[in-house]
Amino acid sequence: MSGPVPAEGTVVVVGASLAGLRAAEEVRHLGHTGPVVIIGDEVHAPYDRPPLSKQLLAGTWDVLRVHHHAPDRLDTLGLDFRLGSRVTGLDVAGRSVVTEDGSELGYDGLVIATGARARTLPGTAGHPAVRTLRTLDDCLGLRSDLEAAGAGARVVVIGAGFIGAEVASTCHGLGCAVTVVETLATPLARVVGEEMGEACAGLHRDAGVHLRLGVGVVSIDGGGAPGSGQPTTVRLDDGSSVDADVVVVGIGVDPAVDWLAGSDLVLDDGVRCDERLFAADRVVAAGDVARWHHPVLDADIRLEHWTNAAEGGPVAARNLLAGSGAAEPYAPVPFFWSDQYGAKIQVLGRPAPGDEVVVVDGSVEDRRLVALYRRGDRLAAALAISRPRQLMGYRPLLAAGASFAEAMASAGG
Ligand code: FAD
Ligand code: NAP
Repeated sequence: MSGPVPAEGTVVVVGASLAGLRAAEEVRHLGHTGPVVIIGDEVHAPYDRPPLSKQLLAGTWDVLRVHHHAPDRLDTLGLDFRLGSRVTGLDVAGRSVVTEDGSELGYDGLVIATGARARTLPGTAGHPAVRTLRTLDDCLGLRSDLEAAGAGARVVVIGAGFIGAEVASTCHGLGCAVTVVETLATPLARVVGEEMGEACAGLHRDAGVHLRLGVGVVSIDGGGAPGSGQPTTVRLDDGSSVDADVVVVGIGVDPAVDWLAGSDLVLDDGVRCDERLFAADRVVAAGDVARWHHPVLDADIRLEHWTNAAEGGPVAARNLLAGSGAAEPYAPVPFFWSDQYGAKIQVLGRPAPGDEVVVVDGSVEDRRLVALYRRGDRLAAALAISRPRQLMGYRPLLAAGASFAEAMASAGG
């Protein structure tokens, strides 16, 4: 049980990105009068990550546009921002966190919103042509690499997940010659299933992006900084190799929980929470870092998508202030979108291997469709490619746990 946070108490939020900012704003919105301290290890004011692989990388947006608030508005939010400061430890019993400079900060309520960090390929640290993409600085660095490499730069993208697909699409739009290397035989198959993964692969192929599927990377050899004229060679486990001016690694993320080692929290692919997002007494978590028990799906899940951070942050904050006795379960219909090659892919619910997939509108060939996922007699998920309005009609059905027959009736089938 976690009691309510007194109105004049100190709320500390660790992680100054989407989930943390939305949580802190909600604390103020609810009339909390005590200090609200938001600590983030990036030096930048909170910004949005989706444009980093899309508009900002493409150069169609400038940096100011990705910030959640104009920098001069931040001090009007009533929040005590401590940016460029890394939290290194948590004492749950003593209700305090410690930052890397050794200072301790007590709290009456704590929100953990430290998100996730990009995985790197072993042996590539410090390579001048190899990058990951998670932060604003990563994006600006990649953009300057692409500029340095010049027109027609050869870009190898490792991983055909969301980062890989969106970076490939944006680089293709910039006139680069793009190759995508992926260990799975079908991109995104683990997320959307084989059939819709094939449809997504079609988007790359239509654009003329080269897909190397079912192969792993053995090593990344040679190479200098983009523009130096020294190409980098990506060697694959089928014996082939691809030369690149720029290599982007998008092979997934790990939840940022290193600073919680030794605390009493349960760390199990993220911070383990109950269905109200409590991780411990007076401690909640939200966003990419939180694994919680979803009461409707009856499963422990962790989501790595924007909407979950935007919705989970405020719910965590409300629950923290109210205390666990008055807290609400967090039971969203999972949702994400991805923009690739001018198409918008959107998914509601949680597709799983073994689901039956029925296309109820459009077709794979048209690259415009709505597909429903059937698990047993239930509607488990819905996916759209460039059919945003049609998809959203399935959200209430998923929220209500509708049967597949009801969903088919709603589709007119
Ligand atoms: P994060 O955004 O990861 O923020 C956590 C913050 O905490 C970071 O600033 C981190 O540096 C900081 N931090 C970590 N540890 C510490 C510490 N010890 N002390 C202090 N600070 C710390 N989702 C979609 O649904 N659609 C999209 O189109 C989409 N596009 C994306 C494009 C890119 C390039 C990326 C990287 C992600 C994209 N996402 C997208 C995913 C979405 O942005 C994330 O789910 C969302 O940012 C998660 O928010 P968060 O606040 O939980 O974590
Ligand atoms: P991801 O979606 O988990 O995809 C990583 C892909 O790389 C997987 O297909 C993975 O295959 C593959 N892979 C892993 N190791 C590999 C290797 N050594 N060589 C080649 N392929 C390899 O992660 P991501 O694309 O890196 O994205 C990072 C985070 O940003 C995620 O949280 C993602 O949700 C978020 N993001 C979201 C969006 C969006 O929702 N539109 C856009 C961009 C980023 P296996 O499954 O076999 O490991």
